Amino acid sequence: MAACMLCPRRCGADRTARETGACHTGGDILIARAAPHHFEEPPISGTRGSGTVFFAGCSLGCIFCQNASISRHAAGKIYDEEELAELLLGLAKSGVHNLNLVTATHYTDRVARVLEKIKPQLQIPVVWNSSGYESPETLRLLEGLVDIYLPDFKYVDPALSKAYSGASDYADIAITALWEMHRQVGAVRFDENGLLVRGVVVRHLVLPGCRADSAAVLDTVAATVPAADIRLSLMRQYTPDFAPRTAPKNLLRRTTTFEYEQVLKHALALGFEGFTQGKEAATAAFTPDFDV
Ligand code: SF4
Repeated sequence: MAACMLCPRRCGADRTARETGACHTGGDILIARAAPHHFEEPPISGTRGSGTVFFAGCSLGCIFCQNASISRHAAGKIYDEEELAELLLGLAKSGVHNLNLVTATHYTDRVARVLEKIKPQLQIPVVWNSSGYESPETLRLLEGLVDIYLPDFKYVDPALSKAYSGASDYADIAITALWEMHRQVGAVRFDENGLLVRGVVVRHLVLPGCRADSAAVLDTVAATVPAADIRLSLMRQYTPDFAPRTAPKNLLRRTTTFEYEQVLKHALALGFEGFTQGKEAATAAFTPDFDV
């Protein structure tokens, strides 16, 4: 791609010349880790784990990112499309419940080509696990290839999204992305064992000191897609371990039980069903080790 416009940053990096874009990656597909993962939401991890592939680089770049070692520094092993196909087929054969592609937005064109090739051989769903900061036209490349969308919906307030992710347009973009994801896969469906086979699960991380914005996020999600069609994953794993010392003061502490419970109350009032996290999730130990 001579001028990359894949993600909403539309930075125009010349991928043919291996120019590094705002996503910290150039022409190569970089993967930091590929392995069964047991700490996703229960209907995704199941008993055998989710076949998780962590792609390096990121087009959003939050200042508190717990995967900064791979998202900001784009550390990973290079894969061409054939090697990626082999990796995914091998993971699928290992017995995992699904293939879980984490932060692959900036590789969407190439991942879509690979999925198109291997999809007929897959007996398990494909999960697209993203920041929610994605263009609808890029998401359309995944239509019929992705079964489960697992996007974040991080903020509504443009001042927050600008300060924490350098993207004042985050909410507008995340709304259209969520709408497009729901259009493609429809309402959630589970198999006879309670594992998710299709649909959208929206993740929201309750940030310390941002309770009002969390409530506004939930209102926005409910106004974008029917609450009954999706599942909400309300996360409290925020840990200040990864925020720079210069970050706003509120990001230098954990989310309190009071803050989390207030947001949870609001989610229940809006009719969301889904998943919650215990206080013990707010630790750096929940961050996967990346073998890069
Ligand atoms: S995917 Fe990367 S190179 Fe392409 S527009 Fe986004 S930030 Fe720029």
